[in-house]
Amino acid sequence: RDKITGSRYQLFHAGMDEIRIQRAQLRDLVAQALENDEFRLMYQPIVALGSGDVVSAEALLRWPSGPGVAIPDIISVAEDSGLILKLSEIIFDQAFSLLARLQDLGLKQTVAVNLSGVQFRYQDIAAILTNYARAHGADTHRLIIEITESIFLDNIEKTQKTIRELSQHGVRVAIDDFGTGYSSLAYLQKLTVDWIKVDQSFITNINESNPNYQIVNAIVQMGQALNMGLVAEGVENLAELEQLAEMGCERVQGYYFSKPLSDSDFIAFASTPNHP
Ligand code: C2E
Ligand code: CA
Ligand code: CA
Ligand code: CA
Repeated sequence: RDKITGSRYQLFHAGMDEIRIQRAQLRDLVAQALENDEFRLMYQPIVALGSGDVVSAEALLRWPSGPGVAIPDIISVAEDSGLILKLSEIIFDQAFSLLARLQDLGLKQTVAVNLSGVQFRYQDIAAILTNYARAHGADTHRLIIEITESIFLDNIEKTQKTIRELSQHGVRVAIDDFGTGYSSLAYLQKLTVDWIKVDQSFITNINESNPNYQIVNAIVQMGQALNMGLVAEGVENLAELEQLAEMGCERVQGYYFSKPLSDSDFIAFASTPNHP
């Protein structure tokens, strides 16, 4: 018995060491990639269910020549090592430059940027974002930030203050991966949130005999009562789309419409009205 416990203990520690080494290696790779300007944003269209028009672009980070590590792990390593500052610069620069291009072309789409906990809690995220916008000639009224429920766990007053500052500049807020976090619903009535993004896990195979149907239906109702719009993520087929339309979901996003696109491909896609 002792032997087993002992070896398990060792195994656990070997695993932890390995993770630590991997993270250290990944941090060095990310630092190098930042030097070499290897990070790019791709933009996934978000479509209005009524009109079929592209109303927004979600900016998603890509490392084309990278080792294929999941983006949340890249973000996490960057956060722990301070590299997130440099990475944020790249993300904000590219996102606002797309927004400025859309404006120049007379296109009306908004741009949604994902913010990690560390990014959201920057000293003055509202000032940072407005500075980038000004530098690019982009309108902050067309910026949406996507944050997850975990942000609300630590300090509700601080979060309230930040969201208020952002909204003074017209920046809209979306709660990402809604329904997957641990937080209570109480924060929703305390904060001015514009969009709720329902996680793909609730959308897959949604139909009336699927328990997720009742959950999403309840979220749609709640959103309507609290004056928040609903975005369904990860829509992959027509059956899911039709079900969401029937429920009164306002916006949809997923491979059924498009995977994330380069800026030029996004502009071409967004210029075409009435997607299926
Ligand atoms: P997320 O914000 O929930 O992004 C949605 C993810 O679902 C994206 O993966 C997207 O490519 C994928 N997706 C979209 N439609 C479909 C679909 O129909 N089917 C399937 N199977 N997947 C779909 P991605 O790009 O790998 O991003 C993963 C996560 O990484 C994001 O989740 C977000 O939390 C984080 N992330 C990505 N870019 C950034 C960024 O610039 N900053 C920060 N802080 N986080 C980012
Ligand atoms: Ca997102
Ligand atoms: Ca999401
Ligand atoms: Ca997600």
